Amino acid sequence: MKVLIVGSGGREHALAWKLGQSPKVSEIFIAPGNGGTRLEGTNVPIKDDDLPGLVKFAKENKIDLVVAGPELPLVLGIKEALAKEGIPCFGPGAYAANLEGSKAFSKMVMRDSGVPTAPFQVFEEFERAKAFVESKGAPIVIKADGLAAGKGVVVASTVEEAIESLEAMMVAKEFGSAGERVVIEEALKGEEASFLAFCSGEEYALLPSAQDHKAVGEGDTGPNTGGMGAYSPAPILPQEKYEETAELVIKPVLKLLADRGEPFVGILYAGLMYTPDGPSVLEYNVRFGDPECQPLLMRLDSDLAEIMLACVENRISEVEVKLKSETTLCVVMAAGGYPGSYEKGMEITGFEEAEQVDGVKVFQAGTTYKDGKTLTNGGRVLGVTALGADLGAAQARAYEAVAKLSFKDAYYRRDIGNKGFKK
Ligand code: AMP
Repeated sequence: MKVLIVGSGGREHALAWKLGQSPKVSEIFIAPGNGGTRLEGTNVPIKDDDLPGLVKFAKENKIDLVVAGPELPLVLGIKEALAKEGIPCFGPGAYAANLEGSKAFSKMVMRDSGVPTAPFQVFEEFERAKAFVESKGAPIVIKADGLAAGKGVVVASTVEEAIESLEAMMVAKEFGSAGERVVIEEALKGEEASFLAFCSGEEYALLPSAQDHKAVGEGDTGPNTGGMGAYSPAPILPQEKYEETAELVIKPVLKLLADRGEPFVGILYAGLMYTPDGPSVLEYNVRFGDPECQPLLMRLDSDLAEIMLACVENRISEVEVKLKSETTLCVVMAAGGYPGSYEKGMEITGFEEAEQVDGVKVFQAGTTYKDGKTLTNGGRVLGVTALGADLGAAQARAYEAVAKLSFKDAYYRRDIGNKGFKK
């Protein structure tokens, strides 16, 4: 089986690494890939939003399965474009991908299917949105409707801050058309966890829980990033609660989409907040999270290619998603300055030494390979991921490996996983 993975982050490196272990997979291509994916397969210089280019490549190279890493190609309709050529795609069609592509659509699906979520209203006119915020008071959450590279959500602690973000989104159009419509919702309090499922129509197979660390600074301080580290399982969502949580946040959405003639195939990811009343869905993603993907795939003890094929062939009940009982933890090493401006092109050293630490794999994200050297090429550079008997062991191994890697101005949080010890 020949597989084409679309994307260029740490998630795609982990997907290529795991798919490469399958006896079913003969060849892996990654478009456009990074300095690490080249070690697992062949990088192809086609961007993730170039649908005609991706379809042409898949057709010419007789690709048997396309795996979409990020949300953008799914929202743009890569599944439908590939289907015209008879090529299966692991990931949902454009309609279902709107669960991530449009916050308003997603909230309406949650409401219509009875999924617990914060009360909300959708606005397209600034003055009305402003009046609503004034009537509700703070704290309040403002969300740009469309894709905004993870920056379209503001948890405002004052009415002034909420109105400023509405102005930035709806009047100054900081996120372009993504902010023309906004969702305003009640602010919830609690701890967050991610819950993912392999889905095929109304059937699903659950992955273990994971916890991400969004803020750039230790103790969850400073601005939000794409994610500074993750670990699995998340003690807040123990295994004995998986099935009941899925009944609450996965099953109703799959049923609603199937009833609408738009069955969901791929990863459905629920971002949960644990409130005193139980879990509430903050958002859905339609793909693996990055970096949660790295620790999750390291714990997966089944053949990923077989599971993905079973999803696209609608026979998910035939496969078993087996998991290692150990804990896995990923520490992201970022370029100094991220999520603000940062330098690129710095040489990274220490890969061999880091991977000599037991149970460690270094997934590459913002990297490129040039003249025999691996150079930084993005904000989040590496995802140093370790397997250990428990959270403490995984954390110790990951940080031991981090200490062996170096590039100029490297930055990482030193407290990844600490939240899990409190439980
Ligand atoms: P989202 O992309 O919708 O998951 O939002 C990004 C982040 O904003 C979440 O991970 C939460 O930390 C925060 N957030 C989103 N919605 C709410 C809410 N209703 N109450 C409190 N925090 C929220």
